[in-house]
Amino acid sequence: MSEDLKQVPVGDLHCQRNTFAREFTTTCISCSEKPDKKGFYQVKLYDTILFPEGGGQPSDTGFIDDIKVHNVQRQKLAHIHYTKQSIQVGKQVHLTIDWTRRWDHVQQHSGQHLLSAVMDQAPYNIETVSWNMGEKRCYIELPTGTVKVDLTPEVLANVESDVNKLIVKNLKVVTHVQEADHEDTERPASLPADYVGGGIIRTIEIEGLDKNPCCGTHVESLGQLQCLKILHTENVRGGNTRIFFLFGQRVLDTLDASYTISRQLNALLTCPPENFVDNVDKLQKQSKENLKKAKRLLESLAVYTVNDVEAALKEKPFAIVYKEDADMDFLSMVANVMRDRKVLEEGAEKVVILAAGEKNVGGPIVITGGNNDIVQKTGKIVNSVLSGVKGGGKGRWQGKAQNWKGMENLEQALEQLQA
Ligand SMILES: [Zn+2]
Repeated sequence: MSEDLKQVPVGDLHCQRNTFAREFTTTCISCSEKPDKKGFYQVKLYDTILFPEGGGQPSDTGFIDDIKVHNVQRQKLAHIHYTKQSIQVGKQVHLTIDWTRRWDHVQQHSGQHLLSAVMDQAPYNIETVSWNMGEKRCYIELPTGTVKVDLTPEVLANVESDVNKLIVKNLKVVTHVQEADHEDTERPASLPADYVGGGIIRTIEIEGLDKNPCCGTHVESLGQLQCLKILHTENVRGGNTRIFFLFGQRVLDTLDASYTISRQLNALLTCPPENFVDNVDKLQKQSKENLKKAKRLLESLAVYTVNDVEAALKEKPFAIVYKEDADMDFLSMVANVMRDRKVLEEGAEKVVILAAGEKNVGGPIVITGGNNDIVQKTGKIVNSVLSGVKGGGKGRWQGKAQNWKGMENLEQALEQLQA
C-alpha cells in the first residue's frame, strides 16, 4: 500500500471535522530524507489539526512535538507539513497549533461566508466573485460593473448592520459532507481540478441563510464572529469593487492600533481627534509658507555671499565659501548669482570653491573657475588637503565629502595658485 493511501485525505482532516482541536496525537508516515532548496523537510502525518492552505484560507502553523511547522500544503488529496528538522517515520507525534493565528483565520473566513451571503440576497443581490484574506484586512470582490447597485456609504452601513444583526441572532453553522467520487455527488466548480481519486466534499451551511462548498475551518455559530466592521471600498479592473472588512478580534486589534495613534497625535497636536485634520491642514499650509520665506531669505543671503566672493577675488585668485548649515540648494543659488553677475570672467585665472554641510557629516562641493586648467589644479589641491572628498568634472568640478576635516588648511594650501 502506498503511503498516500494510508493518510486521511484533505477534506476529512481532524481540523476540518473539529475547528477547536488545539492538540492532537498522530503518526508520522513519511519524511523526506534531505531538506529541499529552501531548507524544508516534507513530512506526512496520518492525520492533522494543522489546516493546509486552501479555499482562500492560509495554512496553519504549529509544532510537531517541539519542531516548528512553518507551512502545510495540499498535494492532490495529500497533506504535507514543512519543517526545518526531520521527523522519525513511524513515530507517534504530538501536534499543537498556533491558535491565535487559526482563530483569526476562522473568524475572517466564516465572516466572509456571512458577508457574501448577505450581499447575495435582497435587497443587494450581488454575487461575490472572489475574496482575499490579507494579514491585516480582508476583502470580497463584487462585479459592480454588471450589477446595478451603487455601494454608497449608506448601503455599506446597511450591509454592516444586517450582518451584525445576524451575528447577534447567533445562527448555527453546520457542515455537510459527501464522498467526492460518489455518483450522486455534484462536483462544485470551486473544487480544485487535482482534487480527484476520492476525498470529501464539504458544504458549509449558515442555517436558514446560505450553503456553500468549502474546505475551510469554521465557527459553530455566528456569535463567535463577535462583529463586522466594513472599512472602505476600492474600484478595480473590470468594473469590480472590493469591500474591505474585519471580523472579530481584528476589529478590536485595529481599534487598539488606531486609538494608540490617536492618543499620540492628541499629545503632539494638543487637540481632540475631531480637530486633527484641520490642525494638520493648518500646519502644512504654515510649513509651505515658512519654506517660501526661508527660500527668499536664502536668496538674499546668496547675494551677500557673492558680494564677499567678489571682494575676495580682488585680493586673491581664489575664494572659499563654506557654510555648515547650508546644502546643495544654497550652493546652486550662489552659483546662479555668480553667473548672472559674471563674477568669473571667461579665461580669468580665478576660481571659487563652494562647500556645505556639517564638519562630521560632510556635504556637496562645487569648484568653478575662469578656465578649466585652474579648476583642475584646484580640484587636485582640494583632494590632497581634504581626505574625505570625491569628485571631478571638466569646467565645473563637483563632488561630495564624507566630512570636512582639514577645511581650515584649505585656504593656506590654495596660496600656491598665486605662484
Ligand atoms: Zn469558504
